[in-house]
Amino acid sequence: MRYPKLRELLEAIKALIRGPYTSSFPKEPHVPHPNFRGKPKFNQEKCVGCLACEEVCPVGAIAHRDTTQGDPAKRTMIYYGDTCIFCGQCEAACIADHEGIKLSGEWELSFFDRKKDAQETIDKELLLCEICGTPVACRDHLRWICERLGELTFSSPTLYLSRLESLGIIDENLLSVIRDQGRSDRVKILCARCRRETTQTTK
Ligand code: SF4
Ligand code: SF4
Repeated sequence: MRYPKLRELLEAIKALIRGPYTSSFPKEPHVPHPNFRGKPKFNQEKCVGCLACEEVCPVGAIAHRDTTQGDPAKRTMIYYGDTCIFCGQCEAACIADHEGIKLSGEWELSFFDRKKDAQETIDKELLLCEICGTPVACRDHLRWICERLGELTFSSPTLYLSRLESLGIIDENLLSVIRDQGRSDRVKILCARCRRETTQTTK
């Protein structure tokens, strides 16, 4: 008869005192380790819709859809849980102090309807070019830029107008009254192409 080794005997005694190493899941809920990298989740309040997370995601698990027809126009940020590999690059690159999207402890990822249940979305207000209607940026993203630029914000009409609108200092309806494709168009929220064309015009 072979006798157990001393180390195995000690482990058996420890397990008797401390209880088993394995959890009783599914009888009891499983609590993951604090460093566990689970499903990333968008934070509606913190995310500014800048798309940095979409740029860095190595597997294309983050995408966006711009809807320009509604009032207001919106950018929908989409997370595809069936594609994500939980690498954490989105959280690391998030410009909103890494709070716009964060890995969670959520690990139970099975679902029946892949199209419906694997996706999570949030909507952000989108500002459009006042001349051509092209998406410029999310309102929160422009606010984020203004806060960092301080008084330099006033070097860009798109930035200071969006900021003044957000603060309720100007009425957004007043901005589009004059559309002469000339000098007055310069003081409008514009995309890069219209800004260039408006600045170059000699009217
Ligand atoms: S954790 Fe990685 S794979 Fe998943 S959404 Fe973020 S960047 Fe993409
Ligand atoms: S703020 Fe963060 S979560 Fe939101 S789009 Fe930018 S990088 Fe992604």
